[in-house]
Order: sequence, then C-alpha cells, then structure tokens
Amino acid sequence: MQIRSESDKAGFRNVWVVAEVLSGKVQPVTHELLGAARPLADARGSEVWAVVLGSGVADGAPALAAYGADAVVVVDDARLAGFTDEVEARVLCRLIDEHRPEIVLCGATTRGRALIPRVAVMARAGLTADCTELGIDPENGDLLQTRPAFGGNILATIRCSSHRPQMSTVRPRVMKAPAPDPSRRARILRADVTPSDASLLKRVVEVFHDANAAFNLADAPIIVSGGRGMKGPDGFELLKRLAARVGGAVGASRAAVDAGWIPYTHQVGQTGQTVQTQVYVACAISGQIQHLVGMQSSDLIVAIDKNPDTPMMKMADIAVVGDVFEVVPALIDEIPKL
Ligand SMILES: Cc1cc2nc3c(=O)[nH]c(=O)nc-3n(C[C@H](O)[C@H](O)[C@H](O)COP(=O)(O)OP(=O)(O)OC[C@H]3O[C@@H](n4cnc5c(N)ncnc54)[C@H](O)[C@@H]3O)c2cc1C
Repeated sequence: MQIRSESDKAGFRNVWVVAEVLSGKVQPVTHELLGAARPLADARGSEVWAVVLGSGVADGAPALAAYGADAVVVVDDARLAGFTDEVEARVLCRLIDEHRPEIVLCGATTRGRALIPRVAVMARAGLTADCTELGIDPENGDLLQTRPAFGGNILATIRCSSHRPQMSTVRPRVMKAPAPDPSRRARILRADVTPSDASLLKRVVEVFHDANAAFNLADAPIIVSGGRGMKGPDGFELLKRLAARVGGAVGASRAAVDAGWIPYTHQVGQTGQTVQTQVYVACAISGQIQHLVGMQSSDLIVAIDKNPDTPMMKMADIAVVGDVFEVVPALIDEIPKL
C-alpha cells in the first residue's frame, strides 16, 4: 500500500519471514532469515513472525520458535501440495492485508523468486531482490536493503519509504542462522485457503529431482577455491589434490571460469553460487566484491596470495603470503591422508 503519512506507517508492524519447506523439511534459508529478522524486529520494538504455507507443514511450525519466531502463521492445506505460486501468492497477500507486516523477508530461491514478485505487485509493495545486508534507519524506521548493483560494481542501499510492507529477498547462505534455542515457544496462528485463492490456471502434475544435476558446491564443508593466479587447468589439478586431501570441493573465481579452466558449476560469487562453508581456502583470488558476496559468511577463511594487500588477504582469518605453486604442494605434503 502507498504511504501518505506517518500514521499510515504506524499501521504496519512486525517482521515476517516466509518459510521455505521442501519435502516436509524446513530449509536452512528460513533459519537464516529468522536470524536476520531478529535485530530488525528489536530495532522496531516489534515481533518476528514466520509464515508457513504448504501441505503437511503444520508439524514443523513450532520448531521455528527455536530460531527466533515469536509467532508462526500456518496455512496447511492439501491444495498447497507441490508449489503453485499463484495460489500461495493469493494466500500470502490476504494474510498481509489482514495482519499488515512492516517487513516481509523471503529466500531468493527458485520458489521465493517465483512467489514474492507476485505478492509485491498484488500488495502494491516495494521489493528489493538478492539483498546481502539488512538494517533499520533509526531516524524513520525504514528498512535499509543493501545489494550489489550496476553489474556488481557498487553496493547500493535501497529504501522503500512510500510503500508498506517493505519486502526483500536474500540468497541462501548469505546470512548466518542463529544457534537454535529449544526453550523458546511461539504462538501458532492457523489460517485457511479460500476457494478463490485456490482457483487455478495451472496444476503441478509431478515433482522430480534430477539425479544428474550439477553437483552442489554449497553443501561442501570445505572449499578450496582458485583464481586467475592458478594460471591454467594444471593449477586446478593441484587444487583438486588439496581438496581431496581435506575432503573438500573445488571452487573458482569467475576469472578462472571465464578462462575455461574449470566449469561454471564451480564458480563462487554474485553470478555463481553463494557458499557458507566451514573452511574456505582462497588460492590466488584477489577478492573483488563480486566474489566476496558469495563466500564471506564462511566460518574460517584462509587466503594464499603473493600480494598481502588484496581484499581477500585483508578479510581472511589466516592469510598466507606466498606463491600458490609452493604453498599448496607443501600443504598437500603436510596434511595427513584422510
Ligand atoms: C557483473 C559481474 C559479476 C561478477 N560475478 C563474479 C562472480 O560471481 N564470481 C567472481 O569470482 N567474480 C565475479 N566477477 C568478476 C570480479 O569482478 C573479478 O574480476 C574476479 O573475481 C577476479 O578473479 P580473481 O580474483 O581470480 O583474479 P584477479 O583479480 O586477477 O586476482 C588474481 C590474484 O592472484 C594472485 N596471484 C597471481 N599469481 C599468484 C601466485 N603464483 N601465487 C599466489 N598468488 C598469485 C594475485 O596477486 C591476485 O591477487 C563479476 C564481475 C562483474 C562485473
């Protein structure tokens, strides 16, 4: 809705997280967003609500309290089986009309990207996609939505002062999930699907998973990543040996992918995958912002570069100044075989 006065704004309250449930399992991005929602709600003196839409999803709803939900709105209906963005958008829009959240967060996943733009149009709200950082302007309570812009050359902070709710999507693994607190409890609010929500132009007939789909770099606990300084495919063979030694996977900067040294499925960054791994080893990657946004939430960052002044070396927890062609073979020799 369009905001014409401060009193219009006052009619909107709470930070909502649209949960993502696949095959009955709440996806980690939901926990990450609940963690991101908490400081926003605290800054606004309001609550964090999770919204769970689907079929057979009710049982998992109370567990969202552990990640920070104060209330969970559950719409559990067989007509939401599979995923039909039209129906979910209508249901979500009705809930927004009824409860008037100030902020709505959703994962920038395939499902979120299909759902949320529809909702934003229907609710006449602003939407900022692929945010990497969220904050609150203490002056006026606006949501500050930071994301790479103009081809990733700048980080833009976008606000949507004249419409409510303020809506953002965030990619999986950009924010860190909070440690769960099993002692927390949430209010559970039930809502229904109406016949008009459920009227459909299309129907999901079958859902299948492609066993041959590209390997999921993001699931690897350790990633050994290489950049332009690896000099060619042989350099990546060296990284594969190190990755095998530590039980990890090989990642790459776009420079290495564009040079054809390794396939695109290994690319980390704004136009590649976002990873939040336990250990990220950056070998001869300078750390341009488009790369950093894809890996900066990793738990431990190790950088190896002959230049100590690169952004990657500056942000690393452990920075090794040296030639990758000396340091990486030495590591392979030193690390005992698994
Ligand atoms: C719209 C857009 C989207 C983009 N998306 C992505 C993305 O998703 N992912 C991504 O990675 N990039 C992306 N980029 C590209 C990004 O801007 C950088 O160009 C790229 O990340 C640089 O890759 P690099 O660090 O491997 O290369 P460089 O910046 O050239 O760095 C190479 C590093 O290797 C070091 N080095 C060289 N030789 C050795 C040696 N023998 N031993 C040790 N160190 C050595 C150098 O000191 C240097 O630090 C994008 C750019 C744009 C415009």
